[in-house]
Amino acid sequence: MRDSTKHQGQRKQLIEQLREKGIKDERVLKVMAGVPRHLFMDPALVNFAYEDKAYPIAAEQTISQPYTVAFQTELLQLKPSSKVLEIGTGSGYQTAVLLGITPQVYTVERQQLLFKKTQRLFTQLGLRPKKHLFGDGYLGHEDAAPYDRILVTAAAPELPKSLLTQLKLGGKLIIPLGEEEQFMMRFTKTGVNSFDQEKFGRFRFVPLLQHKN
Ligand code: SAH
Repeated sequence: MRDSTKHQGQRKQLIEQLREKGIKDERVLKVMAGVPRHLFMDPALVNFAYEDKAYPIAAEQTISQPYTVAFQTELLQLKPSSKVLEIGTGSGYQTAVLLGITPQVYTVERQQLLFKKTQRLFTQLGLRPKKHLFGDGYLGHEDAAPYDRILVTAAAPELPKSLLTQLKLGGKLIIPLGEEEQFMMRFTKTGVNSFDQEKFGRFRFVPLLQHKN
């Protein structure tokens, strides 16, 4: 399945909805207007690809709602030179949006089935993150640290310290924090052990699977 004028039209309408819901970053909207979300969906749900909703993918996970993807990407304030670590590759849709802004994207997925599926899709679509890793994103990815930005796309009950450690000075971490419901948080690193924090709206994410010692 490829992109089509039908899909492009539906995508345009979705972008207008995102604008009405408060997304202002024109670069984010432009990139999302070009990413064929239907190719990241379960084939049975393709007709819903341009609804502003989350849908099930494999392994009891979900493809994030477009509004959530737009909101998190806007909060990242990416530059074309930003080095970004994404925790929770999932369908790869958010990864594709990040790659539309910067080539320096590292992404980690904990579910092997999804990891393999999305790896095939990246190859088919010619999407080339710097690294697509199978592993525990709770620990970040030390080898390529430090990062300008870290984006967590699953709900964390508390702040994973390793992620803060792997940020550059002035770097930002976007993470939904909470159990049943989460607040979107943005942490900006101001010193080795100091951070500014900002709190945004409420969201619902699937849980970040925690690392067990
Ligand atoms: N960005 C994805 C969102 C997927 S949902 C998309 O747009 O499709 C969150 C993802 O985080 C799931 O794929 C889940 O398997 C993954 N995940 C959960 N805990 C994780 C962990 N500790 N490390 C890496 N990935 C994790």
